[in-house]
Amino acid sequence: MEKKRVYTFGNGAAEGRADMKNLLGGKGANLAEMNLIGVPVPPGFTITTEVCTEYNELGRDYVINVLKGEVEDAIIQIEKLTGTKFGDKDNPLLVSVRSGARVSMPGMMDTVLNLGLNDDAVEGIAKKSGNERFAWDSYRRFVQMYGDVVLGMKPHSKEDIDPFEEIMEEMKASKGIELDTEFTTDDLKQLVKLFKAAVKEKTGKEFPVSPWDQLWGSVCAVFDSWMNERAILYRKMNNFPEEWGTAVNVQAMVYGNMGKTSGTGVAFTRDAATGENIFNGEYLIDAQGEDVVSGVRTPQQITTEGSRRWAKLQGISEEERSAKYPSLEEVMPECAAELIAVQQKLEDYFKDMQDLEFTIQDGKLWLLQTRSGKRTGAAMIKIAIDMLHEGYIDEKTVLKRCDPEKLDELLHPVFDKNALAKAKPITHGLPASPGAAAGQVVFHADEAEEWSKEGKQVILCRIETSPEDLRGMNSAQGILTSRGGMTSHAAVVARGMGKCCVSAANNLIIDYKTRSLSINGKEIKEGDWLSLDGSTGYVYEGKIATQDADLDENFDELMSIAEKYARMDVRTNADTPKDAAVARKFGAKGIGLCRTEHMFFEEDKIVPMREMILSKDEEGRRKALEKLLPLQKKDFLGIFRAMDGLPVTVRLLDPPLHEFVPHDEKGQMEMAKVMGISYKDIHDRVEGLMEANPMLGLRGCRLGNLYPEITEMQTRAIIEAAIELKKEGITAIPEIMVPLTGIVHEFKAQKDIIESTIHEVFAENNESVEYKIGTMIEIPRAAITAHKIAAEADFFSFGTNDLTQLTFGYSRDDVAKFLPMYLDKGILKQDPFAVLDQNGVGQLVRMAVQKGREVKTTLKCGICGEHGGEPSSVKFCHTVGLNYVSCSPFRVPIARLAAAQAAIEG
Ligand code: ADP
Ligand code: MG
Ligand code: MG
Repeated sequence: MEKKRVYTFGNGAAEGRADMKNLLGGKGANLAEMNLIGVPVPPGFTITTEVCTEYNELGRDYVINVLKGEVEDAIIQIEKLTGTKFGDKDNPLLVSVRSGARVSMPGMMDTVLNLGLNDDAVEGIAKKSGNERFAWDSYRRFVQMYGDVVLGMKPHSKEDIDPFEEIMEEMKASKGIELDTEFTTDDLKQLVKLFKAAVKEKTGKEFPVSPWDQLWGSVCAVFDSWMNERAILYRKMNNFPEEWGTAVNVQAMVYGNMGKTSGTGVAFTRDAATGENIFNGEYLIDAQGEDVVSGVRTPQQITTEGSRRWAKLQGISEEERSAKYPSLEEVMPECAAELIAVQQKLEDYFKDMQDLEFTIQDGKLWLLQTRSGKRTGAAMIKIAIDMLHEGYIDEKTVLKRCDPEKLDELLHPVFDKNALAKAKPITHGLPASPGAAAGQVVFHADEAEEWSKEGKQVILCRIETSPEDLRGMNSAQGILTSRGGMTSHAAVVARGMGKCCVSAANNLIIDYKTRSLSINGKEIKEGDWLSLDGSTGYVYEGKIATQDADLDENFDELMSIAEKYARMDVRTNADTPKDAAVARKFGAKGIGLCRTEHMFFEEDKIVPMREMILSKDEEGRRKALEKLLPLQKKDFLGIFRAMDGLPVTVRLLDPPLHEFVPHDEKGQMEMAKVMGISYKDIHDRVEGLMEANPMLGLRGCRLGNLYPEITEMQTRAIIEAAIELKKEGITAIPEIMVPLTGIVHEFKAQKDIIESTIHEVFAENNESVEYKIGTMIEIPRAAITAHKIAAEADFFSFGTNDLTQLTFGYSRDDVAKFLPMYLDKGILKQDPFAVLDQNGVGQLVRMAVQKGREVKTTLKCGICGEHGGEPSSVKFCHTVGLNYVSCSPFRVPIARLAAAQAAIEG
C-alpha cells in the first residue's frame, strides 16, 4: 500500500490522534483529538512531517505529485462537510494553511488565512454572507498574509516596515482614522488593489488567482520555512534534530470578522503566571487570527471576574469597563458558557493546563488549537501539585512535568516585573549565577565589605575575581566581571553563595585606577547604581526593585515526592556554616565538597597562612601552622555542627600557594615586619613561588606531599573538631579528601600521614570517631588507573571541573575566548564546563567507577564539579551508578528533582 501522507479530521471523526505528534505535529495531532472528543473544530487535514523530509530531499515537484490525489480527496471531504466548493465563484471554500512541528517553534511559517479568495470568490462570499465589508476585509488580509509569508514580502529585519502595513498607514493618515476596523468597504477594495500592485512591483509577478496555485504555494512555503535561518537557529539552540520536519495543516475557515456577533480569542485553563485554577483569556469582537495578540486593539477579558480584575489594575472604573471593555460573558453569555464547558472538557481530557485558540462565527463557537500551556516555574509546580490532589495525575507524572531548571526561578530574588518592563539593558554577559540584584558600584573587595557594613547595597565590579575577593563578594548584592567563563572563580563562587553574577560582560571596560567603568562608551563611577540579572545576563543602569524568592508548601511537596523516587543522594558544595545550613534546608544529605582554601582568606588566618608559606624551612612552617590549627579547627566545628549527623567531605588544601601571598609592596612590607625578616627576602620568596602555569603546577596533593605538615595540621583540625563535638552529642562524619591525585603513590603517601595523625589524635583524646579517607578523581590518569587508587581509597569524588579542563586541554579561565565561536559553528554543542561531556569526560567517569568497584565493591562515588547541579549531567551520573551528586546549595532542589526523574525514567 502507498504510504499515507494526509490525515483528515472533521465533524467528530479523525484519522489522527493526540499521540501522533511525531507524524502530525502538535497542532495537527490535537486538532484530530479534539474532533474525536466532540469539541467543535472546523474540518481539515494534516500533511505529515515525513512529507517535509521528502520535500527537502526530493523537491517541490516530486512532493506535489505524490500528494495531489490525497490532498484533492481531503479537500472534497471538507467541501462535503461545509457545503462549499474550493475555487467556486458563488460558494467558495476558504481555508487556512498552518505550520505545526512536534513542538511549537517560533521562526516557522506564519499562518495564511482566507486562502482561496480572488476577485470572483470575494463577490461570492459577499453575496452569500450578505456582508460585503467582511468579504473584502478577508480578502485584504489574505493578500497581505500570502504576500508576506509565501511571496516573501515580509521584511527580514524588525527595523524595516512591512510594505502592506505602510500602505494601510498611509490610507489611515489620509482618511484621518486610527483602527483597521474603521476602513470602509471601498477602502478595503482600494487596499486589495494597492496590495496586489505592491506584489507585482516587488516580485515581478501577478498575485496568483487560482486557489490551487495558492494552496500549493502555501504548503511548499511551510516546508521551506523548516529550513529558514530562524528555524535552524531555534533547533540548534534547543537540540532538535532536522529530521523531525514540520506538518502542514489545512483547515476550513471560520470567520471571527463577520461583525458584532463574531470574534476571536485565546485562553488558558489555569493562570500561566501563578498556576491558580482560574479560567482566563482575552477576546476581540469582529476580529480574525492573531489580532488579539498583535495588539492592534485592546483585547477584552473572557470572564467578568477577570475583566473586573483587569480594570482594577488598569485603573478603569466599573462603568467605563462595562461600557467599553465588557467581558465575553457579558456580551455573548451563551458562547462564553460553552467555551467554559469546552475548556473544562479539554483540561479533563488532556490532564494538563491548556492554552487554546477559539473563534466565534456569528454566535457559533469553534476551537482552533489546544496545547499544554507555557508557564512560569511557580505555576509549573502549583499546577502539577494541584492536579495531583485533584486526582488528574500521579506522582511520577508530577515529577516528569516539572522541569528542574525552572525551579531556579523560585530560588533567587527576581526583579519586580513592572520595574523591569521599564528598564533597558546597557549590555549583557554570561548568566553566571542566577538571581537579580541592584546596588552601588564598587571596584574593590574591601570597599564592598565596608560599604555593606554601612548598610549600603553594592555591586562588586572586577575584571575577574580571585580568592582574595571572597569576603567582598559575600558582602555584595551581585558581582559583575569583564572576563571569565561559566566556571571561572567568580561564577563558581557566586553560585555557591547563591549570589547573582554576570561575567564576561560585553564591551565592559573596568579601570581600577579611576574607579570607573565604561560600557559601550557610557561611563559609570564608583557609587553609581547598576542592576544585574544573573539569570539572563543583562546589565541595567540604575536601581531596579527586586523581590525575594518565597518557597511555599507546593515546593515542599514536590521535593518530598522527588525524595521518594530518587536513588542518588544530593549533597552540597559548601565551606561555611551558613551555606551548609541553606543546603540542608533544601534537603542536602551532606557536604560533598568543603573547600578549605577559602577559609584561609579570613582576616585572622591570612597572616599566619602567609607566614607559613613564606617561611624558609619546616621549623618556620610548623610554627605558623600551630597558629593556624585552632583557627582551622573552629571552621570545622561550625560546619560539622551545621551538618550534625551527615557526612562532610573536607578537601585538603588545593590551590597554588602564590594565590595566598601579597603581591604588592605594601603587603610584602607588612609581612616582613610580622616575620621579622627583610623585605627583600619576602619579595624573593614571592617571586620564587611564581609559576608559568599554576593550574598545572605546585597544587593539590603535590603541596601536601611537599609540605606534609600542612596535611597533618588540617587532619588534626578536622579530627579534633569531630571529637570535641562528640562530647557535645553532635555527630560529625568527616571524609577527608585528597585533591588532584594522578598516581596512586601520591595518594598513598598522603593517606599514611592522614592515618597516623588521626591515630595520634585518637590516642591523645582517648576517643575516636567514624571517618573515611578518599580522593578526588580529576586528573585523567587517576581515572585510567582507578583500580589502583580504589585499592587504597574509601571513596572517589569526581572533580569534573578540572577533569573537563584536563581532558579537553582547555583552561577554564580562558575558554571564553574561543568557546562562543565553537558553539556558534557547532564544533561543540554545549559548554563542557556547564554540561558534562558524556562522550568524553563522562566515559572517564564511567570507566573509573567500574574499575574502582571491581576492586572495591563498597567504593562510594560522587561528583562535586559544577555539573553536579545540571539536570542532564545529574541523569548521566545516575546511569553510571554514582551514589551522590554534590552541587551549590541553591542547585540542591534542582539536582534532587533531576535525580528523581532519572530514577523513574529507568
Ligand atoms: P500560531 O502557531 O502562530 O498560533 P496558528 O496556525 O495557530 O498559528 O494560527 C494563527 C491564528 O489564526 C490563530 O489565532 C488561529 O486561531 C487562527 N486560525 C488558524 N486557522 C484558522 C481557521 N481555519 N479559521 C479561523 N481562524 C484560524
Ligand atoms: Mg504565529
Ligand atoms: Mg496558534
